[in-house]
Amino acid sequence: MGRIRVLSDTVANKIAAGEVVERPASVVKELIENSLDAGATDLRIEVDSGGRRLIRVADNGSGMLRDDALLAFERHATSKLSDVKDLLSIATLGFRGEALPSIASVSRLLLETRAAEETTGAAVEIAGGKILRCDEFSRPTGTTITVRDLFYNVPARKKFLRSDQTELAHIASLATHYSLAHPKKSFQLRHGSSQLLDVTPVETLQERVYQVFGNQVLEELIDLDYVERELEVVDAEDRTMRVFALRGFVSGPQVQKMNRNSIFLFVNGRLIRDRLLLHALSSAYHNLMPPACYPFALLFVDCDCEEVDVNVHPSKTEVRFRHGSVVHDFVRDAIRDRLIAARPASSIPVPTQPQAAADLPFSDFTQRIENQRFEPMPSIGPETGPERMEDLPVYTLHTTTLNPSAAPEPRFGFEPVRSTSVPDTHGPLAQHTTEAPQSLSALSDLRPLGQIHDSFIIAAGRDGLWIIDQHVAHERILFEKVLRQQAEGRVERQQLLMPILLEVTAGQQIEYARIADELERAGFDSEPFGNRTIAVKGAPAGVGPADIERLVFEILEIAESELRKVSLDDLRRAMAASIACRAAIKINMRLDHTKMEWLLNELAATDCPMSCPHGRPIALRYSTRDILKSFHRI
Ligand code: ADP
Ligand code: MG
Repeated sequence: MGRIRVLSDTVANKIAAGEVVERPASVVKELIENSLDAGATDLRIEVDSGGRRLIRVADNGSGMLRDDALLAFERHATSKLSDVKDLLSIATLGFRGEALPSIASVSRLLLETRAAEETTGAAVEIAGGKILRCDEFSRPTGTTITVRDLFYNVPARKKFLRSDQTELAHIASLATHYSLAHPKKSFQLRHGSSQLLDVTPVETLQERVYQVFGNQVLEELIDLDYVERELEVVDAEDRTMRVFALRGFVSGPQVQKMNRNSIFLFVNGRLIRDRLLLHALSSAYHNLMPPACYPFALLFVDCDCEEVDVNVHPSKTEVRFRHGSVVHDFVRDAIRDRLIAARPASSIPVPTQPQAAADLPFSDFTQRIENQRFEPMPSIGPETGPERMEDLPVYTLHTTTLNPSAAPEPRFGFEPVRSTSVPDTHGPLAQHTTEAPQSLSALSDLRPLGQIHDSFIIAAGRDGLWIIDQHVAHERILFEKVLRQQAEGRVERQQLLMPILLEVTAGQQIEYARIADELERAGFDSEPFGNRTIAVKGAPAGVGPADIERLVFEILEIAESELRKVSLDDLRRAMAASIACRAAIKINMRLDHTKMEWLLNELAATDCPMSCPHGRPIALRYSTRDILKSFHRI
């Protein structure tokens, strides 16, 4: 080993660049963030060859003073932070003063800028971290930064870049999502001669979602409106009230993605990745969607700067909440309440393969990106979320109807009910077709006609023909009932004539001891009976004796596996789902008319009649409109 030396700035910057600049999209991200911090209202992004050859971000922000233009390339030079205590309350996107020197050390960079208070601006040219020139020149207020030949002096990095299309997709994703975070600003993204994004200022997030994704996607989404809560946070010595706010859009449970690529999280305007928020989101869909599925979500969490530490990673894409569980529960409950309130009728899921019909339609925007002939994006598995923000692919809103050769034939068959179906005023039965139900409350108007295979109830409604899976329908009814009874502490129980003795493994015995109180709360009357044996003397009402044993083992398994680390609330819900499943009427069971009517009424009265506690669909509708179409009557 040699002697210790202090690294030169050039080397230090290159090392920092390794963390800050991973790919062209990272450069775009830093430049966009700087422009936003500078108060720009108009951001024009231009890239060429997926950002390899050229990235230019031009803004109309505050600009830099001539003297600052050079200073900006010094390591740790920032105008956004002056004291270490400012770190506790960072309101800007940048604060580390690392981005510009890092980018300049691995590219050929030209900075052109003018501050409003000066009459002339400055142009600074740097290549590989070396300043080539610094001139005075005239230009309008604002800043334009041009980055050419990224990684020209770091061949190793260059090798890691993917195809131009992939790199462009990452850039487009960033630009799109920053544009969603700032509806009142205009954003343009140009790749060569094609304009990929061009959005003018609008008042609301909803309008921006429309601009970016188009109307069809907007119709699939549920507006979270604006939820604000004052919540108590407790630190070692004191308790404080803090305000947390959430807004954005989420999809109904019928949109089931196989990965998290359609989830975008912003905390105080910063696009981030965060396991805690991802978990809160999944928990909100717990019992509405199958466990390995994910929704589309665009979430903006806003809170006091002091509640969140943004100085966790050089690329600033991770945060740490000071009171994680408060934020987690707030986000989970706000989304869950909204999902339940919306009772979107469109969430009657049809697909046999969830991915296909459940995906959101392609929008103009995504279509334009697609036209750039992309290779398929690497899919990011559920367990291995992208580590960096730039890894989030952009066009996650596919639909299977994209195939251009597929004529827009009317699709016959069962369709999810659209809560916002377009009224059709033509045709003989038009008045019926316009009466698409706004929610599944329409279930209470249904007239049961009979069963198929003693398993599925066929029912006639004003708006078409319905098929209801009797087992999952009853499961949903019981699940909500059990949860309610658990909350009120009055579960219906049955006493067994003979205790059931269960032999358990050592591991199961430990789990049993851990959740014994919860089992009791859920309606079980049980106790250890010697070594590795549990005696069950009572069980929740409705569960047949044959099922009790399996139910207890199932609950032990739940406690042992995924839910080990999760909240009590999740454990209770999982237990309630198991109990409901065991107690529900089975398929292959004949039901008389009164029973079917009762089931439909009870289902209509549940909070979430759209899916069973395990996320499976409950009801399908063949709309009058589709029936008419199929008979060529319209
Ligand atoms: P940071 O954003 O963390 O401060 P950067 O290296 O990204 O660090 O930028 C350094 C400084 O350069 C900023 O603090 C800001 O003063 C100035 N700057 C960078 N980009 C712009 C811009 N587009 N408009 C105005 N000032 C800018
Ligand atoms: Mg910055």
